[in-house]
Amino acid sequence: MTSNISQAYPYSSESEVERAAAIAAAVAAHEDLDASLAAETLPLDAADRWWTYHHAGCGGTLHVAGYARDRHAVVVACDRCGKTALR
Ligand SMILES: [Zn+2]
Repeated sequence: MTSNISQAYPYSSESEVERAAAIAAAVAAHEDLDASLAAETLPLDAADRWWTYHHAGCGGTLHVAGYARDRHAVVVACDRCGKTALR
């Protein structure tokens, strides 16, 4: 049952190293993503753990990419489809 719970749970977390690697891989795989993140985000403060979110639209994982420019949200990017969203 443990595996069913982890599959159904929509949120997880990752280390800063994992987050940075996931965003770098997403940017490498989706050529428009780098420009959209540059336009939409401010640099993150240092942190050890970041939330990740399940992207129901494609089954990928949304990783924190930066703060939204108004700082009221974070911008997340999907490692599978390359879409961005606010969380
Ligand atoms: Zn996606």
